[in-house]
Amino acid sequence: MYNNLNDGGLKMTHIESFCKALKIAWVKRVLDEQNDGHWKKLFYANTKQIGVVYIFLCNFVGSDLNCSGINGFWKDILFAWSHYRYYNPVKFKDIMNQSLWNNSHIKIDGKTIMYKKWFDKGILFVKDIMKIDGSFKTFLELQEILQLNQGCYLEYFALLFCMKKEWKRILKIGDLEQEREEDGYMKFITFKKVTKPCYEKLVSTFCLNLLNTNQCEKWSYDLNVNLRDLIQWQNRFEIVYWVTLDTKIRVFQFKFIHRRLATNDYLYKIGIHNSPVCNFCKKEPQSLLHLFCTCSKIQQFWSDINAWLLRNNVYTQKFSYLDICFGFGEKTHHLINTIVFYAKYFIYKTKYEEKNLSFLRFTKELDFLQQVEYIIAFRKGKQNTHKQKWRPLI
Ligand SMILES: [Zn+2]
Repeated sequence: MYNNLNDGGLKMTHIESFCKALKIAWVKRVLDEQNDGHWKKLFYANTKQIGVVYIFLCNFVGSDLNCSGINGFWKDILFAWSHYRYYNPVKFKDIMNQSLWNNSHIKIDGKTIMYKKWFDKGILFVKDIMKIDGSFKTFLELQEILQLNQGCYLEYFALLFCMKKEWKRILKIGDLEQEREEDGYMKFITFKKVTKPCYEKLVSTFCLNLLNTNQCEKWSYDLNVNLRDLIQWQNRFEIVYWVTLDTKIRVFQFKFIHRRLATNDYLYKIGIHNSPVCNFCKKEPQSLLHLFCTCSKIQQFWSDINAWLLRNNVYTQKFSYLDICFGFGEKTHHLINTIVFYAKYFIYKTKYEEKNLSFLRFTKELDFLQQVEYIIAFRKGKQNTHKQKWRPLI
């Protein structure tokens, strides 16, 4: 549902990601050198033990961070930031640029570490403790350069010990040719407004593309064709938004494509209905395809529509099952698509109300839809577009 329309979603707002994106906007304010608000002092005072703005270069999961002494507001922001920034580096250059401190990939006893003395001496990233040949600097070398005291000896070995074996292997190979992965931080500082791109990144983890689900295969199986080759899904997802302003038809087609309509065979399976049999023909089990395409009563209904469209010179051919299910991909077919989608909605409504299908009632409801669309078009000053669409029937 959070997906874009052309990816088969409803573009609904994912509230959790939206709130996180708003919190992340505070990171931008902290990093903005032009902003010298007094509130920044609170941030600096609160985050001293995790390196102040260095924290935004770190790769951590919120729950791994040592948050004692950090107030709830900044803790929330750091947690939101970790959802945006955290990733698993696998390339040489990315590992070299990993922070040594506040890094969820370098933990002791399940918590990230921060050696304040090392940090104050400027040892911040993996590359700061590496030699050119891909091995780690020895303690003596580090001691000499940074005048670390003898007490840092155990810290040095603990740090090397908790470094991932896989990282050590990649660092040894030292593949300089490999490009870095897209760095969330580097990208972030180029954003002028951060909320939208951050929201898009956060929400992407909750979005599931229809093509990666088995719905597409189920439709292919029902219709006995390979839909992946036959139709462009992105276009078929969008059609309903081009052709009508009516929300109930848009939502209906969304549910239809995602196979989220309750047919009798489904209601029977979950114990709500006494029988899986179709309430129109009263002969066969009512599957999704049966209800909208193969039922004898439904086929008669589609024939009536086709004959009516032929009489009005709107469309001369018989609808295929594919046309009925997913509409026509061309932008010139707005009226026919509206009729097909509304007819399906009408079938489902009639089934739900347990009435008989009436072609006359359908045309009356379609006329009402036309009037509703006219009022919307009138308010938007788009009467000409409306007339162009409905001309053959008014
Ligand atoms: Zn039937």
